[in-house]
Amino acid sequence: MKRTYLELKSPVQYIKGIGPRRSSYFKKINIETVNDLLFLIPRRYVDYSEIHRIRDIKINDEATVMGTIKAIDVQRTRHRGQIVKVLLADESDTIAVKWFNRPDLKKRLKIGDSLLVSGKVTFFYGRQFINPIYEIITKQEANRTQGSIIPIYPMTEKLGLWDIKRAVKICVDECLDDICETLPVSLLEKNNLMALPQAIRNIHFPNNLQEAFAARRRLVYDEFFFFELILAKRRSMVKNAKGISLNDQGVLTRRLIDALSFELTKGQVDVIKSITDDMAKPRPMNRLLQGDVGAGKTIVALYAMLVSVENGYQSALMAPTEILAEQHFIGLSGILKKLEIEAVLLTSSIKADERKQTLGKISSGNAQIIFGTHALIEEEIKFAKLGLVVVDEQHRFGVMQRAALVNKGINPDFLVLSATPIPRTLALTLYGDLDISILKDKPPRRGEVVTKIIKGNKKADIYTFVKKELTKGRQAFVICPLIEKSEKLDLKSVEEVYQEVILIFRDYSVGVIHGRLKSSERRDIMNDFRTGQLDILIATTVVEVGVDIPNASIMLIEHPERFGLAQLHQLRGRIGRGTERSHCFLFLDRYVAPETYERIAYFEKNNDGFALAQKDITLRGPGEILGKKQHGLPDLKIGDLEDDKDLLFLARDDAFSAIADDAEMKSPEFFTIRKQLRKLSAKEKLLSIG
Ligand code: ADP
Ligand code: MG
Repeated sequence: MKRTYLELKSPVQYIKGIGPRRSSYFKKINIETVNDLLFLIPRRYVDYSEIHRIRDIKINDEATVMGTIKAIDVQRTRHRGQIVKVLLADESDTIAVKWFNRPDLKKRLKIGDSLLVSGKVTFFYGRQFINPIYEIITKQEANRTQGSIIPIYPMTEKLGLWDIKRAVKICVDECLDDICETLPVSLLEKNNLMALPQAIRNIHFPNNLQEAFAARRRLVYDEFFFFELILAKRRSMVKNAKGISLNDQGVLTRRLIDALSFELTKGQVDVIKSITDDMAKPRPMNRLLQGDVGAGKTIVALYAMLVSVENGYQSALMAPTEILAEQHFIGLSGILKKLEIEAVLLTSSIKADERKQTLGKISSGNAQIIFGTHALIEEEIKFAKLGLVVVDEQHRFGVMQRAALVNKGINPDFLVLSATPIPRTLALTLYGDLDISILKDKPPRRGEVVTKIIKGNKKADIYTFVKKELTKGRQAFVICPLIEKSEKLDLKSVEEVYQEVILIFRDYSVGVIHGRLKSSERRDIMNDFRTGQLDILIATTVVEVGVDIPNASIMLIEHPERFGLAQLHQLRGRIGRGTERSHCFLFLDRYVAPETYERIAYFEKNNDGFALAQKDITLRGPGEILGKKQHGLPDLKIGDLEDDKDLLFLARDDAFSAIADDAEMKSPEFFTIRKQLRKLSAKEKLLSIG
């Protein structure tokens, strides 16, 4: 083969056989360079030795067969789709194979090709495969002996397995030697891990499944190890960094307590103590405050912000949505005015001239408390003297965004608030760089929240009940999963529900809010709802986090089957904030799978955020709940937080003890680690914190 002088950083376009057009398909699956391609991990493997004779496979089997294409046919379906139908034969029998809406296959497959097909066998006038994984097998490969393993990569419509495999083969042949080991020998030996280049080769071209798994284990360990190492390093830097000592002087905080219309709960007093003790230390605070929805975290954050202000420093609070940032700003403005504190709001929808003014106040130090969204972390924004950064609903932000805001001050204190209760082991692992305070109790005299699943034919009764409540002056949320009617999903949209609701609630005022409104419109609507001019607010999940309107005591959720448990709990957290008894009705007017029903029924009976999160994690895995990348979880390409938990803990222990032994990683043994860290931190600027 002619050498093309590929390097790890060469764009995939330069790989033989991939031009600009194909490289754009690779880009769609985030593959831009040779290196990306080498680290593209197969989703699974098909073992040639597992190939069955077509005659032997049975309905409901997960099976792999190989045969010759005898016929290809394309049919239209009633819904404007296409089915590509193939008749596949081996020496024992034939079977039908069908793909829906894959018109590309018509050109890709030819009569006479050898085809490997893997998937579930179903029944329709005989046995068949529907949308199976497939691979066209070349002559040489067909002659290969049993026992070889075929990696199955994530495919796209435009990229077949074969395209990917061929490109990977070229990269492995030419560039494997360029891959540098990232771990010291001591760790490889201790944990029985193979060398990195070998792992890359074996993940793509294993001789057997054991080899593939061992390679994967090495790569997953690597991923976890460096994630944990960054946490460990940050933690050690914070522990050793010089920070600002902010003392609770009782000047403003005393006045805050006096101005509140309620008493702090014992839980609030306790966490305030742990936070202020920490702030007083001459090193940066790095703390997570966990407390269920409605537990009263905002006031705790405000207290901490005032400590910073009374020491002559600014405080910033970053919220994940504009609605929430505005709510904090508006909701706290009364108290802040009383305390004669200058507060500003910065979001991306603030108009240019006002923005300029606001930025001026932030950089001059005139603004003492700054509320905002991720707009706060833009390059342009300079703080005069930032003493404390608070991040609300932290699971919505990545580690990166957290770090970016902290970097705006000189080692400011840092407090993150989260209502997502995650098991302690996982919390330690994910937020291993943070100390944790838990707000255990809830404010007293909260009305109870009653949750009920409502079947379609019972809806009328509920509407009657809701009218009675509205007449008493209460307010209601109606939650729908979609803004507009969608072709693909047969779900009620905000639009439809609005039409329905205004007919039923003729004498009441109804507003609509969703992510596609202009932010000024959104603000007006939230305001109207807050001030009681609207009785009913129809909303998408834009109100999911943080929204605090104590008079709203009713929530109707359309299509609860569409939401996860943690998300339902967040939504329900919008009610039950006043002293009245609140009601959450889950409108279930269609058949759902038994396990879905079970989930909703679990939610109906449970009001404990911790139990719900735990259940959600067992049902769906932590990534789904906390969200992936943007939500603060590491952007794992290979590892799985639940399935690979043991490796995660192992990597964590190793990373933390490496840092404990040698925080600067100066020993020659850590050379490879240092190099890899530099590479990672150049990419992510993660280490610049602290
Ligand atoms: P979350 O923890 O979900 O962010 P919030 O901070 O929004 O909760 O508080 C929920 C509601 O409880 C707010 O209306 C707040 O004013 C009120 N609240 C907070 N602390 C107390 C308290 N100690 N007593 C009574 N009400 C409180
Ligand atoms: Mg909150």
